[in-house]
Amino acid sequence: MESATIAFLGLGHMGLPMAKNLVAAGYDVRAFDVVQAAVDAASDAGIPTAVSSLEAIRGASVVLTMFPGGQQLLDAYRGVDGPGLLSSAGPDTLFLDCSTINVDDAREAARLALEAGHRSIDAPVSGGVVGAEAGTLTFMIGALAADLESVRPLLEVMGGKLVHCGEHGAGQAAKVCNNMILGVSMIAASEAFVLGEKLGLTHQALYDVVSTASGQCWAVTTNCPVPGPVPASPANRDYQPGFAGALMAKDLGLAVNAIQSTGVAAELGPLAARIYERFRDEGGAGRDFSGIITDIRDRSEGAD
Ligand code: NAD
Repeated sequence: MESATIAFLGLGHMGLPMAKNLVAAGYDVRAFDVVQAAVDAASDAGIPTAVSSLEAIRGASVVLTMFPGGQQLLDAYRGVDGPGLLSSAGPDTLFLDCSTINVDDAREAARLALEAGHRSIDAPVSGGVVGAEAGTLTFMIGALAADLESVRPLLEVMGGKLVHCGEHGAGQAAKVCNNMILGVSMIAASEAFVLGEKLGLTHQALYDVVSTASGQCWAVTTNCPVPGPVPASPANRDYQPGFAGALMAKDLGLAVNAIQSTGVAAELGPLAARIYERFRDEGGAGRDFSGIITDIRDRSEGAD
């Protein structure tokens, strides 16, 4: 697949290092972003750039997108003030979207791509900017098996783990479900640590119990919301992300949309979404999502 020509669209925090890794692995990449500064940064990083998305996709066998959300993706596919990507790409192009978007938007994007005679994969990632730089992202993949096989080597350049979750939309479905568990469990862990403080427990004592008992979870053992027990957790560096509160609020919003469109009787997911929206709006947007514990602590002041 090193012979693949990749149009790489969306050169933000994640896209830039991902594109850089593809170039380093010998892929023929042509990159573009609607923000000129992002194109300049890519050029400075040695990534060949194009002057428009339509120039980037000319002759490309793969169109990889790394956009903020589903609206940008659907607009780009359809075209807003001119021809879109789908009508401009050569026949049987593989549209590989790595953005995190609504499950329904991912299914619509795939439907549009197939209708236009192309192939489609949704492959959102986890691992953040650190994983994008190191090429160790986890890809959650919604695709036909043959389509996945055709881009597996390319994904392995950017990722350490590929999980084929099912057909179109399944990658996004797995991502929202996982992040809903993460958001809810971080709130639960943070409430428990603040309750422990009020009850006179040290952080270390509570950690030593929870990390080996039935409350064990990633929110405690890897991203512990209090400083000390897990030296690498963002709590030890004043909650610098890590995984920013704005992104957690966004992902829980996607989970709520999926809950509404499926009619699942979920209560904690929507509640967690509201809690992270407030965190985001009250100064937590750029802080690690585990900083939610400082909110809980502030709201608990004077309660004892
Ligand atoms: P970002 O906002 O830094 O980058 C998105 C880029 O897409 C921007 O530079 C924007 O100008 C560009 N863009 C928008 N529309 C475009 C178009 N039509 N053509 C070309 N470029 C266009 O976002 P990010 O942090 O890089 O995240 C990208 C995606 O990955 C998001 O969906 C996010 O939810 C997801 N994600 C991010 C992280 C993270 O830690 N940052 C982790 C996992 C998943």
